[in-house]
Amino acid sequence: MIEDKNQSRTDLSDLGEFGLIDHLTKNLQITHDSTIKGIGDDAAVLKFNNKKIVVTTDMLVEGVHFDLSYMPLKHLGYKAIIVNLSDVYAMNAKATHVTVSIAVSNRFPLEALEALYEGIETAAKLYNVDVVGGDTTSSTTGLLISVTAIGETDHEVYRSTAKPGDLLVVTGDLGAAFMGLQVLKREKEVYKVNPNNQPDLEPYTYIIERQLKPEARQDIVKLLKDLDVKPTAMIDISDGLSSEIIHICKQSQVGCDLYEDKIPLDPQVISTCEEFNIDSTTVALNGGEDYELLFTIPQEDFPKIKGNPNVSIIGHMKEASEGLHLITRANTKIPIKAQGWKNFES
Ligand code: ADP
Ligand code: MG
Repeated sequence: MIEDKNQSRTDLSDLGEFGLIDHLTKNLQITHDSTIKGIGDDAAVLKFNNKKIVVTTDMLVEGVHFDLSYMPLKHLGYKAIIVNLSDVYAMNAKATHVTVSIAVSNRFPLEALEALYEGIETAAKLYNVDVVGGDTTSSTTGLLISVTAIGETDHEVYRSTAKPGDLLVVTGDLGAAFMGLQVLKREKEVYKVNPNNQPDLEPYTYIIERQLKPEARQDIVKLLKDLDVKPTAMIDISDGLSSEIIHICKQSQVGCDLYEDKIPLDPQVISTCEEFNIDSTTVALNGGEDYELLFTIPQEDFPKIKGNPNVSIIGHMKEASEGLHLITRANTKIPIKAQGWKNFES
């Protein structure tokens, strides 16, 4: 019996995800000189013989991170690799290796796992990473995939080094994966009522693809190098723009003004938000799973990225005392707040 009935109980949702990680890891000590950066960024940074290596791990759990009724296993395998590579790129590193661990119940036939591995293989090939190990075990309930990714870098970029005055830059566009998920959920409900209904998903192809087959921004690490831009801080957008801005600001001890009218949105996101009667800015701020990169650059680097179609300048960093704000289209200032912890909420 592991649980002691007499012990006091603290709900995990009281701590939140980051509070929980802080609480559990606060007594862990770093003893090796090779540990350059431990817990607290998109990946750990290790140094061996003057070579810097980044390591990151992420787990996907059935029913929490994916629903197999609309997530084909091949896509799931692909996505499991992508979400990890995204954290490697967020350190300004090149991804080189992954390990893949799975827990499966016997409700899955071999063919299902073959499909999962087809996706893993496709991602590994496309992103040029070697699958070098993992673990396979059984599960009494759902499917679980845990991937560890390893990369190398000459110049790692942390979340904690943004400066007041730096420009805040984001790649690609935001909110599409979340809206893709809303469409898939709606179609699942329609299907339950009428399995013969053939949905017309044509107007949603981009956003559904962003949910089912996300990509990681390997190209941006190269682009920044080619443009000779050294970001002062960087993070990938897995939980939503506002959460990632808060991470950079807290860890760098800076404030921020984010301009609503600068947030990049795909037309399909705008039209689907209208259809679902959801505010597109809220979706970009809190949606998550975009796997774009969010970074800060010194103002003098502005000419180097100006007009580049891969990036949008969405704000600038301020002194910490000035706080974190969204400057709305109506020119009002709204504090940027963290959203609740989705996965532990019942
Ligand atoms: P990301 O969203 O970039 O994957 P997370 O928010 O998952 O990052 O994690 C934040 C930091 O906490 C990372 O450095 C991660 O390695 C670390 N971390 C998360 N969970 C644990 C855990 N159970 N034990 C130790 N470190 C953890
Ligand atoms: Mg990350």
